[in-house]
Amino acid sequence: MKIAISSFCWECFTETDQSADAYEKLKKELNSDVDSEVELDNENIHKFICPKGHSSFTQLQEQKFQILFDLASMALNDGYTKEAVSSYSGALERFIEYFILVSSLRNSVTLENFSNTWKQMSNQSERQLGAYFILRLQEGKPTNWDEKKSAFRNNSIHKGYIPSSEEAIEYGQYVLTFIRTTLKELNSTSKEFLQKATLIHLSKNGEKLPKNVRLSNSSIPTIITIRDIESEDYGKNTLKEELNSIKENGFYKHFYRKKI
Ligand SMILES: [Zn+2]
Repeated sequence: MKIAISSFCWECFTETDQSADAYEKLKKELNSDVDSEVELDNENIHKFICPKGHSSFTQLQEQKFQILFDLASMALNDGYTKEAVSSYSGALERFIEYFILVSSLRNSVTLENFSNTWKQMSNQSERQLGAYFILRLQEGKPTNWDEKKSAFRNNSIHKGYIPSSEEAIEYGQYVLTFIRTTLKELNSTSKEFLQKATLIHLSKNGEKLPKNVRLSNSSIPTIITIRDIESEDYGKNTLKEELNSIKENGFYKHFYRKKI
């Protein structure tokens, strides 16, 4: 999947007198009204090279579960039900990881200790789910897991089952409701740690890149968002409504280029 990122070069800008005029002039020179197309990157590092050869990097503020949920929904709108179920399931799994991280931070676990333990369960989603169940139990909120949904997911992902659009929408709605409800709860009980998890997400890539390169953050309006989480209308739209809305959404058409 190709996405659109800014084609403005701040390195070139530092070589000017950095006035508003210089900014406008450079914008024209670089033709930065037209975004650059780059491949959506698993590590969330998107590289842009300006005509002078400067490299700059952009990362998305949104978490993996938010991006996966968007990818699933676009696949569903395009008729790929099986691929949608796979990405909805991926969104759910990455959200569970996010929940466990927030919960660990709240319990004063250091990021280093969390990462070392997570490594031992990162390849086994059943272990992750088990950790989630027990954490929830300790909060007095035993999970009522829908085994039928898990069986459906396994059939679709591992056994070649081709889901109907109705089944894929039902599964996506289940994932959407699960994530939104839990996110809202986390925001009211652990807001400080949600913010900490966001900072961790954004600082990860800084450590991977050389110190002198520019890494900027970009935020996109994903279907699952934390932005309006305190509003009364948060999460009121059904998946069907969200699917219809992104079909017409100019931002989606601009940002997600739907090509390889
Ligand atoms: Zn440049």
